Amino acid sequence: DTGFTRIDGNKEAKSITDEIKIEVSRMDASIHVVPGLAVILVGDRQDSASYVRNKKKACESAGIKSVDVCLPEDSSEEDVLKYIWNPCSVASTIAINPKKDVDGFHPQNMGLLAMRGREPDFVPCTPRGCIELLHRYNVEMEGKRAVVIGRSNIVGMPVAHLLQNEDATVTTIHSKTKNPEEIAREADILIAAAGQPNMVRGSWIKPGAVVIDVGINHIEDPSAPRGRRLVGDVCYEEACKVASAITPVPGGVGPMTIAMLLSNTLTSAKRIHEFE
Ligand code: NDP
Repeated sequence: DTGFTRIDGNKEAKSITDEIKIEVSRMDASIHVVPGLAVILVGDRQDSASYVRNKKKACESAGIKSVDVCLPEDSSEEDVLKYIWNPCSVASTIAINPKKDVDGFHPQNMGLLAMRGREPDFVPCTPRGCIELLHRYNVEMEGKRAVVIGRSNIVGMPVAHLLQNEDATVTTIHSKTKNPEEIAREADILIAAAGQPNMVRGSWIKPGAVVIDVGINHIEDPSAPRGRRLVGDVCYEEACKVASAITPVPGGVGPMTIAMLLSNTLTSAKRIHEFE
């Protein structure tokens, strides 16, 4: 026994969703309000469409109302804004009320996340899902070396702030970083969010490190049912021989992202209706 742990995002997401469902029922029973989530999808990107489908299914299982709006790829910003102001009562992210900013992408929430001693109304879902998994698997962050691969607004940058708030010492790797492998190998906690299939090889990982693989990449695989297969940014087979724990793809961060979105949606509804 190597003591290797496969971090089960499906299981944790389900337990979070079950708790949310109880809260949604309690809210409905006492103040007759059911939280709702409106999703506006612009264009027909496959991965976005599947994310929206999963959100809808998750809303159903938590008892949260969901509204979907699909707009064509060539929609103007004005078209999108019209829907933001309609179904729920940055330029386009700025149109979202920060109190309803369940994705946590409003510049005000991003700013608060980055400030010491301040807290945003909402934390972005994928980064929050990563930290939640680390907490749920009792991974100590204080004083540890954490390395984040990627610096996007939606994953890399916010997750680096969250790790820092947990008192980890954080280094970010991006496309201009020299010797990424060497830097990654210093990590006690390695979070990969580059969108590069199998970029992180076994040799990039410090023995015993905890690895969170955020990547969702479709690669061609003639032997797979649809001719393509989903992989993360981490070469799983190699990583599980070195790491002490790792999230699989699929079944790791993906379901946690959705669970955090439901959690933020519930929190938003509770705050707006002053329901404790
Ligand atoms: P982006 O493309 O916006 O950002 C990628 C980041 O990785 C950039 O900062 C880029 O650097 C860096 N990067 C790219 N290639 C390399 C490289 N070869 N070496 C070092 N750094 C590199 O992607 P996202 O942050 O939106 O998403 C990242 C991945 O996570 C994707 O696979 C996406 O599908 C997945 N994802 C998964 C979610 C989930 O729920 N599990 C949710 C959101 C995303 P630079 O800044 O220099 O360009």
